[in-house]
Amino acid sequence: MNDFHYDALAGRVVFGIGKRRQIADEVRRLGRSRILLIADQHDGGRLDEFHDLLGDLCVATYTDVAQHVPRAKAAKAVALAREFHIDATVSMGGGSATGFSKAVALEMATPQLCVPTTYAGSEMTPIWGMTEGGEKRTGRNIRALPATVIYDPELTIGLPVEIAGPSAMNALAHAAEGLYAKGANPVTSLVALEAVRVLSLHVPLMCAAPNDVEQRSYVLYGAYLAGSTLAVAGTDLHHRTNHILGGLFDLDHGKMNAVVLPYALAVNRPAIAESYDRLSQVMGGDAARAVYLLARRTGSPRSLAEIGMPFEGIERAVPLVVESSRQNVRPLTEEQARRFIQACYYGAPPNDSILGAPNP
Ligand code: NAD
Repeated sequence: MNDFHYDALAGRVVFGIGKRRQIADEVRRLGRSRILLIADQHDGGRLDEFHDLLGDLCVATYTDVAQHVPRAKAAKAVALAREFHIDATVSMGGGSATGFSKAVALEMATPQLCVPTTYAGSEMTPIWGMTEGGEKRTGRNIRALPATVIYDPELTIGLPVEIAGPSAMNALAHAAEGLYAKGANPVTSLVALEAVRVLSLHVPLMCAAPNDVEQRSYVLYGAYLAGSTLAVAGTDLHHRTNHILGGLFDLDHGKMNAVVLPYALAVNRPAIAESYDRLSQVMGGDAARAVYLLARRTGSPRSLAEIGMPFEGIERAVPLVVESSRQNVRPLTEEQARRFIQACYYGAPPNDSILGAPNP
């Protein structure tokens, strides 16, 4: 058996239908009373409900949430937090709203309560991200780790299938990549495999019956497991490539995840034989192809071309992918990176031509 270390992360999780109604109690449990509510106003029209639930505890509200946390907007949220002398944030929304909460927490050292409405999983991690001048920077800081997370499947009912499907594929990517990323250990791998099992089974059922709160619950549970895997195990080729492409071409995060994962698994396969076999076992077939087929059952886009990446972007991305792959389980040559990005761009089913020979 291999040696390992495990830095477990602390945090409280409250999971269940209707649990959002406990938000004020959870704020008091942390001994806080001056809340900045951060909410994406498009996240299912729940803003009024959260104002009612928080009552006098809410002293300010920020709603100008945007994907990938643009630095200038984050600065406005921080300024509001300072002006109203807040002592905690409550965020309600997808990974973008959580990202703004993290930006405030980093500056103010205030605890966060997060109520996610997508399957992004950011609420379980100490990873922050911020974008400026077309470049996304990310980092780890324990201040960015939320203190309390309330998972209420009812909040995800309004998430349209065309967002929910790719968002769930993002969760699957956290779990799949968490099996072999540098921080993986036997405990995170158990959690990751359970996430893959739950998501593979329930994501297609949820996409077929988006109003079924039971299916929504399983997918949200899988997303929670996947987020907690990401928090400790970290990322590899798949997510590093998504960050590069997201920064260069402003592509939608969830959709990109749904496209890239089968090819990232296929390219990494020579370096991750044991994890690849475990994934294939849980998914009931070759992992890369199983993920590709699962994505088809979620209505996710097939290719980067479909979600707006320009053809010339392939050559722009290649050197950046080569450079970032130096930290991965399988560093790529220029030719391997080109074949990988081309495969993502065109979106054909993954096959042996992109599996690539083992590195010399
Ligand atoms: P998002 O938060 O931008 O939400 C996607 C879309 O769904 C938005 O248009 C939003 O308005 C809408 N939406 C969300 N909830 C809804 C609901 N219940 N009903 C109707 N519409 C709803 O995107 P996301 O995919 O959740 O998160 C992506 C962001 O999170 C990216 O910036 C990504 O980098 C980041 N992320 C960070 C981490 C981390 O650990 N730091 C992990 C995963 C993702």
